[in-house]
Amino acid sequence: MTESTMESVESFRLRARAWLAENMPRQAGDEPPPLSDDDTSDWIRARELQRMLYAGGFAGICFPQEYGGLGLTRAHQQAFTEESIGYEMPLPLNIPTFAICAATLLDMGTEEQKRDRIGAAIRGEEVLCQFLSEPRGGSDLAGVTTRADRDGDGWILNGAKTWSTSAYAADWGLCLARTNWEVPKHRGLTMFLVPTKAPGVTMNRIRMVNGVREFCEEFFDDVWVPDSAVVGEVDAGWTVASRQLFHERNSMGGGSPYVSGRGHPRTVPKVTPLEIVRACGRTEDPRIRELVGEYLAMAAVQRQTSDRVTRAVGTGALDPAAVSLIRLLHAEGAQLSDDLAVRIAGAGVATGTGAEPGVAGRVAIGYLMRQSASLGGGSTEMARNVISERLLGMPREAAPDRDVPFKQVKQGR
Ligand SMILES: Cc1cc2nc3c(=O)[nH]c(=O)nc-3n(C[C@H](O)[C@H](O)[C@H](O)COP(=O)(O)OP(=O)(O)OC[C@H]3O[C@@H](n4cnc5c(N)ncnc54)[C@H](O)[C@@H]3O)c2cc1C
Repeated sequence: MTESTMESVESFRLRARAWLAENMPRQAGDEPPPLSDDDTSDWIRARELQRMLYAGGFAGICFPQEYGGLGLTRAHQQAFTEESIGYEMPLPLNIPTFAICAATLLDMGTEEQKRDRIGAAIRGEEVLCQFLSEPRGGSDLAGVTTRADRDGDGWILNGAKTWSTSAYAADWGLCLARTNWEVPKHRGLTMFLVPTKAPGVTMNRIRMVNGVREFCEEFFDDVWVPDSAVVGEVDAGWTVASRQLFHERNSMGGGSPYVSGRGHPRTVPKVTPLEIVRACGRTEDPRIRELVGEYLAMAAVQRQTSDRVTRAVGTGALDPAAVSLIRLLHAEGAQLSDDLAVRIAGAGVATGTGAEPGVAGRVAIGYLMRQSASLGGGSTEMARNVISERLLGMPREAAPDRDVPFKQVKQGR
């Protein structure tokens, strides 16, 4: 399909509007409904909704047609997202399934991986997750110690991963493992597509401080995968991981073309500073109005920076590393919002975190998760490193393990 044979954005928008009204269930209000305590049913529902989008011809808008998508542009996706507000959408599938994992497979996977995995995700049949971080730490991703050893026409994986978002609901995970210990750390890695239910995979769910069990940890004990599980080249997994990190940072900053629908469903929906001000009846307080102004200004800066960086990376005017800028702003914006929420709500946030938490309780629960914005998608310190070294040309951080064979690098204390 060429630009000239492509349906216009306006015609697509009108068709989407009519189809959504006819086929998709309405939700109460503009924001996505909270996730239920029984999160398995949320995932069954997400798959169901994705199948509805697929049957209606509105799934995988920016993915190529040969892999089950529509092969349309970011502008088509944006129009669909605008029209979809107020309808139930399969939002849990956006990140990491589409925006990170399917996007990485599209760039780096084999034809078979693209056809099978991206196609199945678009049809609502499969969910994908990321097995990157390890208990030893997530920032030094090139230093992973999960190992994959050759075994006939396949590989045997041993090791441990952690903080895998929604892995319990996933079918496949992109797993970074070490295949060569004789070379420096970046050169001995390989990315594998691992079935989450493969024999030898033990998965536990992690309960977070806010009570939610979205994260998992996994132990791989002699997990066998075939050669066809390799994504990209053997020992060139860093190239794949770098692309994956690009998509992750881009999606966190709001720049991914593979996100469909607006919002991120949460068990306890986040409260915006504006909602709190209204709930506390402090709309006329000049100091509070100043704080809300700060929040709105930051939101505008974030939106415009995200648009600008995304466009510049798309045209090649900026290095792809620039998505770290929008990833960083996302964290700054989220934390500003959490901090302002507490300042506006005042001492009330210390109480009311029960089953019906009310606005103050929701602020408190949101605040408990404050740090997640600066860790998920790689920490903000790592984003600052990327910005200073790769965009501003500052000297690289000292790394004594960069050029030595990985087997000589001291592990642990
Ligand atoms: C919401 C969320 C979702 C996530 N989803 C996933 C997922 O799906 N899959 C997955 O594999 N992981 C996931 N993670 C894990 C995430 O990638 C890691 O938390 C992150 O990479 C940091 O690793 P760490 O927590 O082990 O911290 P560490 O690496 O131990 O770092 C601890 C602190 O030291 C700082 N630090 C470390 N090295 C440096 C340095 N060189 N310079 C300056 N500061 C440094 C870090 O910035 C951080 O503040 C998720 C995390 C969150 C919060």
